[in-house]
Amino acid sequence: MASSSYSNSPCAACKFLRRKCMPDCIFAPYFPPEEPHKFANVHKIFGASNVSKLLNEVQPHQREDAVNSLAYEAEARIKDPVYGCVGAISVLQKQVLRLQKELDATNADLIRYSACNEIPNTTTHHGGRRMSDDGGGGGSSLAHSHGFYYPSNWNNDPCGNSNGYPRGDI
Ligand SMILES: [Zn+2]
Repeated sequence: MASSSYSNSPCAACKFLRRKCMPDCIFAPYFPPEEPHKFANVHKIFGASNVSKLLNEVQPHQREDAVNSLAYEAEARIKDPVYGCVGAISVLQKQVLRLQKELDATNADLIRYSACNEIPNTTTHHGGRRMSDDGGGGGSSLAHSHGFYYPSNWNNDPCGNSNGYPRGDI
């Protein structure tokens, strides 16, 4: 089945170069006639003879990856003659850096919040002395507990000044 279609129509490379596609054509397995643009792009950017040389230099099992890489690079270079696929790499690297900073900042917030939450938990353990200083009632630490028993939803301002009432729009 494969051999019949192979013998009938030349590969995209040989068709493009207007030459006879021999059975041992190095392009044929990677540039099928159904994808004429693939070879046209690669040829335009790298040149057919360079591609042929390159394919001969790599192991047969690596040739498909090599061709896919060349096709990707060629397409990117045609779309963006200045930066080619480096443009995409650069954009993605910037994105990674931005997201890394965001992640670092979020982790720092997380550490800060969990540190703030730990202090009252340890001090109220034995009657909450620190809090009863301004509060008055000795055993009323629960009433003054700024919502420490609630998980994060209620504690968006754990260090702070607001008295722990949930904000309606959270
Ligand atoms: Zn061919």
